[in-house]
This record gives sequence, structure tokens and C-alpha cells, in this order.
Amino acid sequence: MPTTQNKDYYGTLGVKKTATPEEIRKAFRKAARSFHPDVNPGDKRAEEKFKEISEANDILSDEKKRKVYDQVGFYSDQIDPAQAEAYARQQSGGVPVDFGGFDFTGFQSGPGHRASSSAAAGSAPGSAAGSASWGSFKDIFSGIFSGAQPGQYPRGPQPGTDLEYQATVDFWTAIRGGQARLEVHRQETCPTCHGQASTGGPTQCPECNGSGQVTQMGGRMKFNITCPRCNGTGRTAQVCSTCRGEGLVSRTETVEFRIKGGTRDGQRIRLQGKGNSGLNGGPAGDLFLIVRTGTHPIFARNGDDIHLTVPVTVPEASLGAKVDVPTIDGRAQLKIPPGTQSGQKLRMRERGVENAQRPGQRGDQIVAVEVVVPSLSDERSREIMRELAKLNNQDPRVALFDKL
Ligand SMILES: [Zn+2]
Ligand SMILES: [Zn+2]
Repeated sequence: MPTTQNKDYYGTLGVKKTATPEEIRKAFRKAARSFHPDVNPGDKRAEEKFKEISEANDILSDEKKRKVYDQVGFYSDQIDPAQAEAYARQQSGGVPVDFGGFDFTGFQSGPGHRASSSAAAGSAPGSAAGSASWGSFKDIFSGIFSGAQPGQYPRGPQPGTDLEYQATVDFWTAIRGGQARLEVHRQETCPTCHGQASTGGPTQCPECNGSGQVTQMGGRMKFNITCPRCNGTGRTAQVCSTCRGEGLVSRTETVEFRIKGGTRDGQRIRLQGKGNSGLNGGPAGDLFLIVRTGTHPIFARNGDDIHLTVPVTVPEASLGAKVDVPTIDGRAQLKIPPGTQSGQKLRMRERGVENAQRPGQRGDQIVAVEVVVPSLSDERSREIMRELAKLNNQDPRVALFDKL
């Protein structure tokens, strides 16, 4: 029996053959997040990898497709589960089964069996069967079978994609916690067709006359395949005009979310299921919010610390004083030590922001002292200043000249 390079979908997603649907879903999301073209603009290898993992996920996340893949070693929409089952039985040494002319040997040995296009009504020879690349199989499939038709609906459930938004949160809300809202654009299940992508009562499929199967001739081989027009359902329906058959529509929505007290700038919040809606019952993606904390006219925040500049008078700085300063909790007293210089920083312990992860643990408030020089408008004050200068005639620039 000739062998061929079948795709290792399990290896692509890095999961075991026995992986549960949940494990497959998680592995796909993790990989998709690192290789998504939006995250790697212009990176061809990432794009290629993204296609591979998408293809693997497409097959493995669908119970029926996965079964066919497990049995046959590759997947095509044109192989129905019964054929796969029969093939698997045959492979394991069972009784040979009639495939209705389906020649697997031909498939295994490459495009040598390329057949001329068929006479079946409505087929479109040469169009690729989906976007997946099947190596040598692709040539055969695309040569024999009509490809996916425009407006054809995706089959298995498809998970919705994740969304990422920046959310600017008010200074105080980020510190104390609270509710915040953000307008997001997301894809939602179409309200007209409820995601079915079609409206109007289904009618009998004209291509297969409702049987769901069509017979297609490829050269001298006869193939029984699932009707490409109705996907084997035997019925076709009108394409929904609201979503143009997508099953999803774009919506602007105001999302409300909770902000934990102590939330820092740049922090990520995950809102499960608030991303784009899935298709055919697939789960919705997640919404990721990158928090941007708002600014304040006097307080500046750095992690859990609050920075503040406080003006003090010359006598306060010189003689020392106790002054009232604002903190995020209101007024608090700060001791200015005698001889404090302008620009000096004083630490007020545990007057900062309570840590979001460790309740009860607070940052500090760092006060930068700014000495305000009085503008003297009366003669008496100027007199005192001159007298002060005489009593304290140190030259503060001495050190500058020492270094020349
Ligand atoms: Zn619709
Ligand atoms: Zn049909």
C-alpha cells in the first residue's frame, strides 16, 4: 500500500490524539493568538502557520470531520462518514468494500488519476474545494469535484474571534474600582436569520432533487458524493439579505465592565464571550480590554504610588513645619523637616493606592517639595530679607567653582 504525506493536525495544534474538544479549543486559541496575522503584520511564516492551525482546528473541532480524519488519515468534505468507516474497516484487514468507484489508491499515489470534468449538472470543474491545501489530493479533488459554491455556508460550528480594545478608565475609578463602559464594534448573530444565513422556507435542492447525493463521473470512475449545493441536506434556502449569507452582522454595542480597585495602566481585562459571535452554534470569542487609566490635575500615579508636588514657603522649608497636603483619601499632615530644599522628595508611607492583587497593601505618596520664593512688595520685608542675608552669607555656588 503506497504511503503519502498526510497532515498531522494533532501535531500542528500540539495536542494528543485523545484530546478532548475543550483541549483542542484551548490549544487552537493559544496558537491563534500568537500567529494571528493582525499580531504579525507582514510575517508570511506566521500567516502560513495561522492557516495551518486554522485548518487543523477546522477539522479537529468538528466531531464528524475529526472522525473521518482519524479513520482515513486526511479529510475532505466529499468523503462521507460511511465511506470513511468502510475504508477504515478495509485498512484494518476487514472485508473489501465497494466504494462506488471511489479509488483511494489513486488518491494515495498523487495526481496521476486526474480526471476530466464531469457532465453532472451545475458542477464547476477546476474550482478549488475550499481554501485548504491538500497537497497531491487537492489536484485530484479539484479536478473531479465541483468546488464550494459562493454563498455556501460553513458547516461545523465556528468559534467567534477575539476582540481587543483600549479602555480609558477615569483616574478615580481605577483607584477605587467601579463600573466603566466602552463602545465596541462586534459581530453578532444576524437577527433576521438567527445565524442561519438564510431566510424563507427551505425548498428541495434542484441539483440532487432532494436526495442529498449526486453521482459524478470522473473519467471511467464513478463517485457518489455529497451534493455540493445543499451539503447533503437535500434542501436549499434563500440567502439572508440582512447578513448576505454571513450569519453575522456588525453591531456597535456599549459594554459595561467592572474595574477592580487598584487597576493599573496597561492591565488586561478579559470579558469572556464578549468577542465576535460564533457561527453554527460555535462559542463567541472573548473581548480583551487594555486599561488606560485617566490622569488627574494634581496627582500622578506610578503603579501603586502617587506623586504630588507641594509648594512650601521659605520659612516653612527653612524652619520646618507641619503642612496639610492632599492625598487620595483627603487631607493629611506632612512634616517638612527644617532645611528642606526645593525639589526634595518626602515619602508619606501607605498613602498611595491599594494594590489590586494584595488587599490591604498600599503604595506610598511621594511629595516633591517646591519652595516658593516670596515677592516682597513692602520696604519692611525687604529690610528683613537684607538683614537675613547679612546674617547668613554662605555662597551656594561655591561647590560649582570647586569642580572647575
Ligand atoms: Zn442573516
Ligand atoms: Zn442537493
